[in-house]
Amino acid sequence: MIAQKPNFEFWFVTGSQDLYGEETLAQVAKDSQAMVKGLNAGAGLAYPIVWKPTVRSAEEISAVCEAATSDPKCGGVITWMHTFSPAKMWVRGLTVLRKPLLQLHTQYNRDIPWSSIDMDFMNLNQSAHGDREYGHITARMNLKRTIIAGHWENKETQRRLGAWIRVAAAVTEGKTAKFARFGDNMREVAVTDGDKVAAQITFGWSINGYGVGKLVQMVEAVAAKDVDALFEVYKKTYLIDKAVLADTKAVDRIKYQARVEIALRKFLEEGKFLGLTSNFQDLYGLDQLPGLAMQRLMAEGYGFGGEGDWKTAAMVRAMKLMGDGLPGGTSFMEDYTYHMEPGKEVVLGAHMLEVCPTIADGPVKIEVHALGIGDKDDPARLVFNAAPGEAINASLIEFGDRFRLIVNEVKTVKTPQPMPKLPVAQATWIPYPDFTTGLEGWIWAGGAHHSSYSTQVGAEHLQMFADLIGLEYVKIGKGTTVESIRQTLAVQELLAKGRL
Ligand code: MN
Repeated sequence: MIAQKPNFEFWFVTGSQDLYGEETLAQVAKDSQAMVKGLNAGAGLAYPIVWKPTVRSAEEISAVCEAATSDPKCGGVITWMHTFSPAKMWVRGLTVLRKPLLQLHTQYNRDIPWSSIDMDFMNLNQSAHGDREYGHITARMNLKRTIIAGHWENKETQRRLGAWIRVAAAVTEGKTAKFARFGDNMREVAVTDGDKVAAQITFGWSINGYGVGKLVQMVEAVAAKDVDALFEVYKKTYLIDKAVLADTKAVDRIKYQARVEIALRKFLEEGKFLGLTSNFQDLYGLDQLPGLAMQRLMAEGYGFGGEGDWKTAAMVRAMKLMGDGLPGGTSFMEDYTYHMEPGKEVVLGAHMLEVCPTIADGPVKIEVHALGIGDKDDPARLVFNAAPGEAINASLIEFGDRFRLIVNEVKTVKTPQPMPKLPVAQATWIPYPDFTTGLEGWIWAGGAHHSSYSTQVGAEHLQMFADLIGLEYVKIGKGTTVESIRQTLAVQELLAKGRL
C-alpha cells in the first residue's frame, strides 16, 4: 500500500423533495441504500461509499454540503436525484461545498417495467428529468465537477465511478499535502520553476524549502546496523554483480544510499511530506546524489522531481495515489534522447538516476557508476527496462497566471536493441498519435522535459483531475492532430485573457 495513504470515504447524497409523501421517500431511501451497498460490494472501489439520508430541502442540502466540506474523512460527494429535486434548493449548499463533486446520472431500475408501469412508478423514478434540473444549476454555477451517466450496475459505469473516486482522493489529499524541497530550482531552468503560492491556492500543495544540512545530520545519525540490515534487503531484492559485491568501495557506495534512504524516509514520515525534490548542484555535505534511495522511496509512493521540480514531484504523488493498487506503476520521467530512423522512431526516456522501479519489466539491478555531471561520489542506482504497454506522460506547467496540464498517450515498447552501457533505468516509447505529432503537440503546448509517467492511470483520470481543479487540459493522443491541439491552445489562450 502507498505510503501515507489517506483514510477517505465518499458520501452518497440522494436528492428529492417533500412533495411525494412518506411512502415514496421511504422507497427512495431504500433504493439508494441498496445502490450504495451494491457499489461497495461489487464495484472494486478504492475507498468506501457512505450513504447519507435523502435531502429534501435547501436546509438539508446545505447541511450535508457543509458537513462534507468540514469532515476531513470525506474525500468527495456523489450526488444523484432519485426524484425531481428543484435545483434552486441546491444553490446554497453547492456554494459552500469544497469537496470534489460527482453527478452520477443513473436510476435505480435498469429497465422500464413495460407491462406494469403506472403513474406511481413514474413519480418515484424521475432521475431522467431530476438530474437534468440539477445539472442545469451546476452548469449555471459553472461548478468544477465530473458527470458520469449510466446504470449503476453497469460495469463501465462502475469502472468510471472507480476512476473518479481515485482522482477525487488525489484532489482532496492535495488540499493538505506537503512537499519538501532540498535546494532551490536548478539554476536558469525555466519549466521547473514557478509560483508555489499559486500552486497552494490552486491545488492546496504546501511546498517549502529545507536546508540540505538538516538532511546531512540525519544521514550521519543513521545507525550502522540499520544500514547493514537494509543492505541485506537490497541483496535479496535486486541483482548485484559478484564483482560489485567483492568491491568494498562499491559496497560502501551502495550502503551510503541505504543510509540516505533511512534518513529521508524518517524525514518524510516525521514531517508528513508526500514527496520531495533534490538538486544535484546543491548537495553540500552529502557524498552522493540520492539515486537508489530516491527510487525506492518513489516505489513506496512518494512523489519526486529532479532539479527542484516541485510540480512534477506533486503530480507523481497525485498519480501514484490515483493508481494505488492498480497494475503497473508511476514514475518521475524525462524525455532524454530520440531514435529518428525513418519508420522506427522512438523516444528514450530516463533520468540521471531517479526512475521508479514500479514501472520495471524483468530484473532490477543495483549498479554503481560515476555521474558524469556534478562533482560528487559515484552514486548507486537501480537499473532496469520499463515494461512495454500503454502509458501516459503528464506535464504540469505554469504560465504565471494559470496552470496547464498536458497529457501524451504513448505506447511503450521493448527496447529495439540492448543497451549494455546505459547505466540508468529507461523506458522506450512511441508517442500517440504518431512520433512527429506527439513531439510537435507537446512543444506547441509548452510541455516540460520532465513528466510523470504512468502505466496505472490514463488520460481519463487526468481529464477528471483537471476538471475537478479547474486546470487547462491538453491531451495529445489517439485521434488528435497538430491542428486540433493548436485550436485547443488558442481557445484556452483567449479564455485566459478574458477575450472569449
Ligand atoms: Mn531532469
